Amino acid sequence: LGSQKELQLSNPLPDVGQVHKEVEQRTTFDLPSEGSDVTLADIERCYEIGRLVGDGNFAVVRECHRRDNGQTLAVKIVERSKLIGREHMMQNELSLLGSLSHPRIVRLVAHHHTHTHSYLVMELVSGGDLFEAISERGTFSEAEAGLMVSDVTEALNYIHCKSIVHRDLKPENLLVSIERVAAGICRLKLGDFGLAMVVTEPVFTICGTPTYVAPEILCETGYGVAVDVWALGVILYILLCGFPPFRSRDRDQEELFQLIKQGQIHFLSPYWDPISEEARGLVRALLQPDPTVRLTAEQTLLHPWVKAHRFHGSGQYH
Ligand code: ADP
Ligand code: MG
Repeated sequence: LGSQKELQLSNPLPDVGQVHKEVEQRTTFDLPSEGSDVTLADIERCYEIGRLVGDGNFAVVRECHRRDNGQTLAVKIVERSKLIGREHMMQNELSLLGSLSHPRIVRLVAHHHTHTHSYLVMELVSGGDLFEAISERGTFSEAEAGLMVSDVTEALNYIHCKSIVHRDLKPENLLVSIERVAAGICRLKLGDFGLAMVVTEPVFTICGTPTYVAPEILCETGYGVAVDVWALGVILYILLCGFPPFRSRDRDQEELFQLIKQGQIHFLSPYWDPISEEARGLVRALLQPDPTVRLTAEQTLLHPWVKAHRFHGSGQYH
């Protein structure tokens, strides 16, 4: 494959493998990481790999347990032959995610690479993803949607301060963490940094998922971190009414892109009738077509509707 070199991490992670390196006998946790080649048998000696918890375009994600201490984790297994020409995606995920530490962002614990596959060991976020939650629930109350928006905005504010743009913000990449089962409070964590990058100057690459793509990406005028805020606006719209703000009747992508570029938002009756003016105001401010006028993540955190629904740790909404 010749891709092993590229998978190496420039910024080494604290890794379960490093701790036991000096131990003479091969114990369960002597797996080298940071790009070195190991075998599947080495991995299975350290982890018990269990049930499927999700899949995406390039990976399957399974629950796993560290055999030495029983810790439950998730492992994203990527078949590298599927990544030909896209090796940089996993490189991004390793180097960017590995440098982040935030309660609203999925934590990368270790990574291991065999000749054919890469294993990204992460914290397990056990409530499924937001796409599944939307499919089950349809819509959410303003209190629930407000808490979710504030969680995602905190993650965005953190990465945007580091000039990192996620570029693939969508419900499938938001993991549901059930932190207070009794109170039924679902918190979100941002995952899947495969398309993330550091932005130092305008980016022109068209990427993302059609429903969530910002107009400046389509207009090819150069874009930056504001594209994530647009995607958040699309997600908020969906949470409140159950369908996306821009939609083509025949799933015609060109028509969808035209609608996004026109940027007209309609609050269709009767679906939007019960929804507050403050919530609609935030939708408009996030789906502002001009990225220079659009709210930033930092400004979104200060929006009255978001502030009203932020989590205050006591399990109560204020
Ligand atoms: P891809 O790059 O292939 O889209 P993702 O990182 O988005 O892969 O993971 C695919 C799916 O696996 C997600 O949509 C989610 O449902 C699930 N998933 C990902 N990471 C975790 C995790 N840490 N804990 C639980 N489920 C996860
Ligand atoms: Mg994904």
